[in-house]
Amino acid sequence: MNIHEYQAKELLAKFGVPVPAGHAAMSVEEAVAATAKLPGPLYVVKAQIHAGGRGKGKFKELPPEAKGGVRLAKTADEVRAHATDMLGNTLVTIQTGPAGKQVNRLYVTDGVDIEKEFYLAMLVDRATGRIAIVASTEGGMDIEEVAHHSPEKIHTITIDPATGVMPHHGRAVAAALGLSGDLAKQAENITLKLYDAFIGTDASQMEINPLAITGAGALMVLDAKVGFDSNALYRHPDLVALRDLTEEDPAEVEASKYDLAFIKLDGNIGCLVNGAGLAMATMDIIKLNGAEPANFLDVGGGASKEKVTAAFKLILQDPAVKGILVNIFGGIMRCDIIAEGIIAAAKEVSLAVPLVVRLEGTNVELGKEILANSGLPIVSADNLGDAAAKIVAEVKKAA
Ligand code: GDP
Ligand code: MG
Repeated sequence: MNIHEYQAKELLAKFGVPVPAGHAAMSVEEAVAATAKLPGPLYVVKAQIHAGGRGKGKFKELPPEAKGGVRLAKTADEVRAHATDMLGNTLVTIQTGPAGKQVNRLYVTDGVDIEKEFYLAMLVDRATGRIAIVASTEGGMDIEEVAHHSPEKIHTITIDPATGVMPHHGRAVAAALGLSGDLAKQAENITLKLYDAFIGTDASQMEINPLAITGAGALMVLDAKVGFDSNALYRHPDLVALRDLTEEDPAEVEASKYDLAFIKLDGNIGCLVNGAGLAMATMDIIKLNGAEPANFLDVGGGASKEKVTAAFKLILQDPAVKGILVNIFGGIMRCDIIAEGIIAAAKEVSLAVPLVVRLEGTNVELGKEILANSGLPIVSADNLGDAAAKIVAEVKKAA
């Protein structure tokens, strides 16, 4: 789960990480009112969307020469003008894709003089199974670009979970950023606080870009992108409350209500599978047969009729879907129960695309019999290879 920049900064501030003062605004008036609560004379008006690259982004509704989603302002009137430009409009950045994202919230912050910009991130490194710090002197720009063109400018520091973060990690960050003296101490302090925040919130990533040296000689977090481990969210109801559903894919939000693991993809064959491994194998075999899956969908071990129905509806909401492959292994669940669920769901959603079902496991013969006697145009398959070949053929036939 991801949160907005203003939420991330408020959270980091609670852990003692230095951030500029700021106020979230849902309307132009709120944005203008925020200036009265800030010291001035410089303000920054920032579009709040779950995507980076806002500064260089473009608004669909504005002329191409208009400024992006991060703008400096010197007066309340300038803040008003920027807020009016941004709110309700669609910001397209390198991370949003061409469709862009509608801006519904702003963050008005105290504007600081920037002497230098750095990059600092913490993430879970899957290769080592540890939290890693990534630091670079090349802040304020796309880190993927830096990694591509000058990888030597990216430093990775791994933290042993047995010790947790230690002062030497902080010193390593300071060295990576080329800092000494008081600034090095500040970098060390920020590293320790950031780690506390990371562990304390069960974060999966914290990306600070830029971490800036201000004109006043202070290190400050000017932009923060924070994401949390969804599997640990049950421990953090306060964080769950920060979720902004308008930033998420509507189908994936719907799926999470039914505890379905659903990820939308670009192909035209919808997949309904139980078990993540089986779901991946199903997607692979669809590709092997020359077609593309429209989604990844794992209904989980205990797929009830309600879950199967919700899953069917989700798949069919996607206009790109031209056929559905159901691939279920009845282990704890019995195949006859699953067959009844499929029939009930297919009737409820008035299925208009070909449906191939492959069942295997407990009571499989009874399950197949129920499907065959349902009167619905369900194609039964004997194994995974047969199922994939059949759905691809059905979709081609219908095209
Ligand atoms: P992003 O484009 O989505 O990554 O948004 P950022 O918050 O990182 O802002 C983009 C750029 O705007 C930063 O890299 C800075 O150069 C600039 N910027 C952000 N905040 C300030 C500020 O307080 N003062 C000044 N002078 N520039 C800022
Ligand atoms: Mg940034």
